[in-house]
Order: sequence, then structure tokens, then C-alpha cells
Amino acid sequence: MARRARSQERSKAIERRLREQVAACTRLLNDLGILGYSGHVGARLPGRDAFLVQSFDQSRAAIRPDDLLICDFDGSALGGPAGVRPPSEVYLHAEILRVRHDVHAVAHFHHDPSIVFTLVDRIPLRPVKNHAARWASGIPVHPDPSHVSDPARGRAAARSLGPHHAMLIRAHGQVVTAETVPALLVDCVHFVENAEAMYRAASLGAVRPLTADEIARFLRGFDRDRHVAKPPGRCPVKRHGEDASRILRKQRG
Ligand SMILES: [Zn+2]
Repeated sequence: MARRARSQERSKAIERRLREQVAACTRLLNDLGILGYSGHVGARLPGRDAFLVQSFDQSRAAIRPDDLLICDFDGSALGGPAGVRPPSEVYLHAEILRVRHDVHAVAHFHHDPSIVFTLVDRIPLRPVKNHAARWASGIPVHPDPSHVSDPARGRAAARSLGPHHAMLIRAHGQVVTAETVPALLVDCVHFVENAEAMYRAASLGAVRPLTADEIARFLRGFDRDRHVAKPPGRCPVKRHGEDASRILRKQRG
């Protein structure tokens, strides 16, 4: 009995920490202009077929840990504040988390300079900056621009993502996945930095993406855990931003 009580206490503590991380990550991504009013961050609850995610209506600028919903992999809300519902694209998180056991955090947002690469021929988004080495395996484009608002669309999006760590959705948005919420925040920042850099480079001339050798050399000297522990350099000095950044630095796991 005591063992069961300890286990429940541990699960509660983990959920509390994840709630703080998801709320902090959401506010920071909002402050950084990456997460628009309808983007969202999801985080797997360990040992459960369930995850935390924002509700449909909650402002991303003011979200608090207790505002988050718990949803299952069918997209249904298992718990959360009364009267709120999951985001319409909850199936994107659910179906990725269902099949990608290495993924514990998912962000979906609608960042215009990144979307541009799905609107033109012959200029795919590639790693052009060092930290984009994270996406050396490729950044697939999901061909269906529809909102991922039902399970079939969620499964199709998860298939397009495949084993990769990020994906563009044509004329719609982006998906970034990571092993933890703090890592997700860092990856989202680098993802849009890379897209913005390539966008500018393409306006000047032929783009020269990182070569496989350049990526390999960068990764040999790169300590991902240490990098994740740093706050984002462009973090605005705002009340929420400071609080959120501190939470994520203290809670790397
Ligand atoms: Zn969307």
C-alpha cells in the first residue's frame, strides 16, 4: 500500500513538473513570436497513453499550469478545467505520441517564414545554420494543408513525419518534436532561425545548405543537454518570459 502511495505521489510530482514546463514553454514561444494564438505544445505523461496540451480557447500568453488539459490518444479530454475543450488539432499530438515512443514533447505552430518553403518549387527547407543539424535526416512536407482535426488526418501527419524531428505542413504550419519540453523550446527557436536564415539567403542567391560533413563535424563537438539548459538568447524581458525561462532552466528533464 505504501509503495502504491509513493508511486502515485511520484506520478503527481512528474505531472506537476510537466505542467509547469508546458505552460512556461508556451508562454516563451508566444513571447518569441513563434507560437501564434492557435499553436500548441503537448507533452507525454510518462507511463500513460495521455498527454498535456492547451485547451482550444486559452490564451497562449497567459497560460498557467492548471489550465492544461489531459487528453488521451483518441483526442478526448480526460481531465482539466471545467467547460473547456481540446484544441481542434489535438489529433496531431495524439497520433505522433502514439507511434513515436522517442518523442515526449510536440509543438505545432503557424510560422509564416517557414511556411513559405511549402509554397514554392525547387527550394526545400534544409539545414543552413549549425543548430539545424538536428534536422539532418530531413524536414518532410506533409502535403495536406487541412487542419489536423480528426484521427485520420492525425495518422496521415504522423506518417509524413516518419522518424524525423520536424515537419512542415503545406500552406499551414510546422511540427517540431523533442525528447523533453525544455529541448522542444530550444529546437523551436533554432527551427525558425534556420528557416528565416534560409529565406533571406534564397533572396540573395543560390542557397548553400550545410553539407553532411559540416553537420557531422558540428555534432561531434555539440553537447545537446548542455545547450538545452541555456535560456533562449532572444527571450524578451517580460514577467512571463523571465519566469518561464527560469522554470525551464531549472527543470531540464
Ligand atoms: Zn495548425
